[in-house]
Amino acid sequence: MVSCGKCSEDVTFGALCSKCMMDYHYQCSGVTEKSYSKLSERNKATWVCITCKNDAAGPSAAPAASTTRASAKGLSLENVMEEFHKLNAKLSPLVSLVDDIRGIKADVKELKKASSDTSTQF
Ligand SMILES: [Zn+2]
Ligand SMILES: [Zn+2]
Repeated sequence: MVSCGKCSEDVTFGALCSKCMMDYHYQCSGVTEKSYSKLSERNKATWVCITCKNDAAGPSAAPAASTTRASAKGLSLENVMEEFHKLNAKLSPLVSLVDDIRGIKADVKELKKASSDTSTQF
């Protein structure tokens, strides 16, 4: 059984600080169970208690809600960028294909011109 880093009582369900590696009751760490459970696994793994947060960030510590929102937004942007890069990778051979087609078209034009020239000659 672990004990709370603040009140020293047993913690069954609580938040684990990634910095001081102490378990805290939600109410002792300044986070609600609801908002902590909403955090992604990555955010939980980097979660710090209010003491460590105050140590690191000083008076202008960002509230947990805004950081979760920002990371969720960043994740979707990442996905979009990934899709974009995939698309780009697909499109780059197409670009050279377009050049090829242009060249073929020009050849066909020349051929048509040549054949029409010959047909009018006959
Ligand atoms: Zn406690
Ligand atoms: Zn801590």
